[in-house]
Amino acid sequence: ALKTGIVGLPNVGKSTLFNALVENSTAEAANYPFCTIEPNSGIVPVPDERLQALAAISGTSKDNIVPTTVEFVDIAGLVKGAADGAGLGNKFLANIRECDAIVHVVRCFDDDDVIHVDGKVDPLSDISVINFELALADMAQIEKRLERLNKGRAKSNADKEAEAGERDALAKIKVLLEEGKPARLADLNEDEWALVKDLYLLTAKPTIYAANVNEDDLADKGGSNPHVAVVREHAQEEGAEVTIISAQVESELIKLDPEERDEFLADLGADEGGLQSLIRAAYKQLKLQTYFTTGEKETRAWTIKEGFTAPQAAGVIHTDFEKGFIKAETVGYDDFIVNNGFSGAKEKGVWRLEGKDYVVKEGDVLVFKFNV
Ligand code: GDP
Repeated sequence: ALKTGIVGLPNVGKSTLFNALVENSTAEAANYPFCTIEPNSGIVPVPDERLQALAAISGTSKDNIVPTTVEFVDIAGLVKGAADGAGLGNKFLANIRECDAIVHVVRCFDDDDVIHVDGKVDPLSDISVINFELALADMAQIEKRLERLNKGRAKSNADKEAEAGERDALAKIKVLLEEGKPARLADLNEDEWALVKDLYLLTAKPTIYAANVNEDDLADKGGSNPHVAVVREHAQEEGAEVTIISAQVESELIKLDPEERDEFLADLGADEGGLQSLIRAAYKQLKLQTYFTTGEKETRAWTIKEGFTAPQAAGVIHTDFEKGFIKAETVGYDDFIVNNGFSGAKEKGVWRLEGKDYVVKEGDVLVFKFNV
């Protein structure tokens, strides 16, 4: 599953959000084999209404609807000095290293009853405290690597060339970090990124700022909250996403059943829950998309990278499907729904047989034909 680490200063609402996300989804998918790996980590199903619509057409029973999942990790304790190994700082940084994306919770709500660690609500300052620690940790990794590269151990010309390439890539990233910018913005081509991939740079990770607001800011998506405006501007400069969330609302949603929840959200003027909006932002940042398989036995969502070909998409189900791939019966999601399934789509001429060069589209409903 996609692994996202929740970071942020103390007292900004991280654990409130984490607990709400994890508990909400357990309530929502009673049949789902939900699990908590550790107290601070939970795997939650990705809500997707398209699954229910597909299942209704295919006659899949409720128990056999399988959503994709996202793992959330609550990474508390990232504070000033973490990169120096202050307290348990290093351990927290190591936890972030393992994540595919970072959700950075930023306090954008005013509430005199909730103490702010630095005395006042100041999103830009909060963001920079955390990002400074991440950048310091990256800098240390880069320095260590450069030191090793500078020993010039490479013998063959090919190895020497690779080392030179890596040094150049690292130098580009270092300049950015020194300017207080994240590695994510470095102007590297795909090959150069591949050279530095095993450093797992923290500031290179796709990042979503979760602006934590009070409930009355949900209706206009934080449009009239000046703290949110600051976060949006900063995120744009940094190539990050912003999502508006109310940890407090999320924690109240837990107590409601599904219909009440929709009503409550509608009353607040919110069109979706926090989990949906976070996941949408994460998919966008990570360039992920979903395709479906559906039949009487099972209706299931699968996560792939944008640009995956049909065989690559099949490989997400099983490597044998990729190796033995022959064809993919393909119907777009809307075509599938409008025509009430595969046979209706066939009659209308919107059912296609795609080959191995086909690039899968968001929402495609697929049946793979393969050799074993
Ligand atoms: P963490 O240290 O970042 O994990 O923060 P917590 O989740 O423990 O929250 C700190 C305090 O802020 C708690 O008292 C929460 O109830 C409160 N809090 C969290 N989110 C919100 C919010 O959206 N609005 C308000 N008013 N309070 C919140």
